[in-house]
Order: sequence, then C-alpha cells, then structure tokens
Amino acid sequence: MYQIKATNDLRRIVTEYFHSIGQDGRKVAWCTSVGPAELLRSFGFDVYFPENHGALLGATRAATDLIPEAGKLGYSNHICSYTTSDIGSYLSGRSPLQSHYGLKGIPKPDLIVYNTNQCREVEDWFGFYAREFDCPIVGIHPPRHLQDVSQEIVELVVRQHQAILPACEQASGKKFDIDAFRQTLCFSAEATRLWQQVLLTARNSPAPITFFDGTIHMGPIVLMRGTSTAVRYYQQLLSELEENVRNRVGVVCDERVRIFWDGMPIWGKNRMLSDLFIQNKTAVVASTYCSSWVFDAFDERDPFASSALAYTKIFINRSEEAKMKMLMNWLEEYRCDGIIFHDAKTCFNNTNAKFGLPQRLRDLSGLPSMIIEGDLCDLRFFSEGQSITKIETFIEQLDRSSQYV
Ligand code: SF4
Repeated sequence: MYQIKATNDLRRIVTEYFHSIGQDGRKVAWCTSVGPAELLRSFGFDVYFPENHGALLGATRAATDLIPEAGKLGYSNHICSYTTSDIGSYLSGRSPLQSHYGLKGIPKPDLIVYNTNQCREVEDWFGFYAREFDCPIVGIHPPRHLQDVSQEIVELVVRQHQAILPACEQASGKKFDIDAFRQTLCFSAEATRLWQQVLLTARNSPAPITFFDGTIHMGPIVLMRGTSTAVRYYQQLLSELEENVRNRVGVVCDERVRIFWDGMPIWGKNRMLSDLFIQNKTAVVASTYCSSWVFDAFDERDPFASSALAYTKIFINRSEEAKMKMLMNWLEEYRCDGIIFHDAKTCFNNTNAKFGLPQRLRDLSGLPSMIIEGDLCDLRFFSEGQSITKIETFIEQLDRSSQYV
C-alpha cells in the first residue's frame, strides 16, 4: 500500500500547531481559509481557521449529527455545511479537537477576520462567533466573479486591507510593522511555490500524489501560511515526491486513467473514494480545490498590492470565462482524460456544475465529464452505491478512450 512518508511529520506539526494556539499569552485571530493570514501573523497573532475545523468535522463524520443543532438557531440545513456543522459543534460542545488532539475545544478569538473572496457565507458564519464571544470582527469585501483583476480593483482591495490595520493593532496591542509583514509574506510565497511544485509532480505517470492525498497534505499551506514550518514541510514533501517520480513510484502503479476533480472534497468519503479510484487504476491527478492555495502573486517587495492581487484572483472568485481558461490549462498540464464535477449541495460557491459549465467545457476541451452529487460535510446528500456505479461507468468509458495508456 502506497504511503507518503512525510505524513508522519505532517501529523506531528499539525498537532503542534493546534496545541500552540494562544499559548504564552499570544493573541488569537480567526481567519477565513483564503483570508489575510500573513498580515495577521505579522502582528504576532496565532491564526485559527474555522473552515479547517469544518473539514475536520466532515472527515470525522461528526458533521451530520451536529448540523441539526445549528438548525435550532435558524441556520438552514441547506446552507454551507462547514458553517452549520461548526456552529453545531460549538453549541453542543463537541469537537474533534478534543477527541483527536486532546484539546479542550476551539480557541477563543481576540479578533475575527474574514474575506468574502470565496463567499458571503463566511460573513454570516463569523458574525455568529463575533456575537457569541463579543469579539471585534473586520472583513475584506473584494468585487466578485471577476474576468480580470484590474489595477483599480487591486487598489480598492489594498485599501480594504489597510482599513483593518487599526483593529489588528487594537486587538494585538502591537503597531503595524511593514517589515514583519514582508517576512510573513516571504514565508508564504516560498511555501506556496513549494506547494505548487508538490502538486505539479502529479503531471508524471504514475502520479506520486493524488487529489485525495493533496487534501491531507494541504494542511500546512492552509494552517501555517506565513511561517517557516510550512516552508520546511513542503521542502521535505517535495523531495520525497521527486524521488518517487525518479523511481516511478506512484499512488496507482498501473495507472490507466487520469482525472481532474472540480469542487469541494466529500470529506467523510475521502478514504472510500481514494480506494475506489485506486482499485479502478485511476489517478485523480489535479483539482481546483488543492490548487486554490497556490498564491503565485505574493511579493514581499509590495506586500499589500501583491496580497490583494493574490487573494482576489483565486479561482472561486472568477467569471465563468476565466474559470474555463484555468480549467483548460489544468486539464492539459496534467494530461487528464476526463473531469468529475462535485455538485456540493450546500456550497453553491465552490460548485461549478449547476449552470451548464460542464457541458460547455466538454464542448471546448473534447473531454468527457460527469457530475457526482454530494456534499463537503453533510453525508445525507451523498448516495454511496449510486456514486460508485456512476464513477466506475465513467472510468470504463474513459479507459476505452484514454490517450495516455
Ligand atoms: S466556499 Fe462554500 S464551503 Fe467554503 S465557506 Fe463558503 S459556502 Fe462554505
């Protein structure tokens, strides 16, 4: 059974990360997963990401029981299941941070910061906690669904980043220090460059990493952006994967089909799906999800403008035309035979299967696609039997037409 060796170190650094939050009197900032983590770290905040907690609730399958708890406060079962499972977890006092990491629970925030570059839901979600903890909350609201990110837009978003500085100073008790910001951005730029190299190793056949491994190994780029720990981890992981490429060691030894995954993971079924694809000699070699933490615009020489650009031009915040171009590039770069769109029932924002994009992409690329219905956390929207049949039929179809075997 193929096992990425760096996984042991990953477990250790993620455990250390959780245990270190708020230690020695350090202040804690909560941040959205593609929010301004580098800016917050420059003030000395420990940064906690509620979306990661949502993913943990999904992966441990605790979410489905917790979502109804949020429903009692009026949070619909049909909105973001990260939001509802996380709020349900808070209300019931149950969290995988207790059972898996030995913590008392989630850390208490000194400042809550969001960026609606991914969705407006985060504003409602984080607003709940601002009221609960009577905690200051600030947000960045860039224009959405952009074809291009113009200079005017970058300048607007720079002003929005600068507007949160007083709240950061007040909550941290520290003055803004541009050199500290340059340093955290420098770490992030290097970590994100390495993360991209890690993902790109899957251009090779057999691919030494798949989407399912990527959802685990992306931990440091989400949680530890802006630190040297993330840089060191990806140096180690990259070196292992490059060695595997040289030795032709891959996740699927007899790789026959290569697939692109669009949309959110189905956290509670990641292991089952990973095994299913391996059994069917298929590598899911790339995804919009894992690629979302490649911020190639970061530049410490111009920290505000480059952060504004990097966080505004992410895939989820782009027009359909811009998304199609990005998808076409990835499909070609990773030599994919087909694409699976995950229609996540509680996340419209990170689902591209609802308005005919798969059909238009198929016309443009000539590659077959299929839609799998499910959800990031709420397994009531996922039918395992039906999905397995659909996926196996799709793989059979691709295997007959694959140009890469
Ligand atoms: S992008 Fe989707 S999953 Fe993520 S916070 Fe927004 S609604 Fe939830």
